[in-house]
Amino acid sequence: MSRLAVVCGGSGGIGRAVSRLLAENGCRVAVVSRSTDAARCTVASLPGADHGAFSCDISKEHEVHKTFETIQTTYGNISYLVNAAGINRDSLLLRTKAEDMVALLHTNLLGTVLTCRAALRSMMHTHGAAIVNIGSVVGLKGNVGQCVYSASKAALEGFTRSLAKEVASRNIKVNLLAPGFIRTDMTAGLKEAEVVRAIPLRRFGEPEDVAKAVLFLLESSYITGQVLVVDGGLQLAM
Ligand code: NAP
Repeated sequence: MSRLAVVCGGSGGIGRAVSRLLAENGCRVAVVSRSTDAARCTVASLPGADHGAFSCDISKEHEVHKTFETIQTTYGNISYLVNAAGINRDSLLLRTKAEDMVALLHTNLLGTVLTCRAALRSMMHTHGAAIVNIGSVVGLKGNVGQCVYSASKAALEGFTRSLAKEVASRNIKVNLLAPGFIRTDMTAGLKEAEVVRAIPLRRFGEPEDVAKAVLFLLESSYITGQVLVVDGGLQLAM
């Protein structure tokens, strides 16, 4: 049977491109996001059959537990997990509301931790299982107006390296991919012409640029606990 991939945030810009590339490469894809309609929309656009849409708020433990249980009983064991669900609430720290801090940490950090935990047992039963968490170049370098977002993404680096050590004996690889500016809804409000001046490759990344790197990490047999930066050289200039 073909590999089962779970893509959290699979209805978003990066997650949709990852879901498509995985489906093109023969995976069955479980697309997870809060909105069922949005997840269904991604599934409808995928080549091949046997994909599924799941509504789940990854920041809520009981929803994650229930969703992964359903995925496993319906589709079987999980080979790949991609954590591409995330939010940003940009503002200077002095103006950041506590509820926004909690939402950022619960979605970007806790959500990823919960989905990894929920998928692990199932992944132990598949050969060549792999997890890719999506961080951010901002988690590595910091950015004005993104203190809490940056903290949530930086924490994913420690989490990813630690989990990679914990599950290496089970031959499960865990890596972090850190994108720069990628053209999705999350960056739609930015002044692209100004921002690209800081990017050595002089363009925003496309979701497909990230998807190719995600597939590379998922399929790599000897890479674990690493951070792969996909940013057109942005961090060189930060
Ligand atoms: P996007 O287009 O806004 O997509 C975000 C996705 O996350 C959507 O599918 C959304 O679906 C899902 N999501 C949000 N909160 C969720 C929750 N609590 N539970 C389940 N799903 C949730 O953003 P994107 O640009 O593709 O970003 C994907 C990831 O890459 C994020 O982690 C982001 O921080 C990171 N990243 C993006 C960029 C960039 O330039 N775009 C750069 C660096 C890092 P629902 O709303 O239906 O839940």
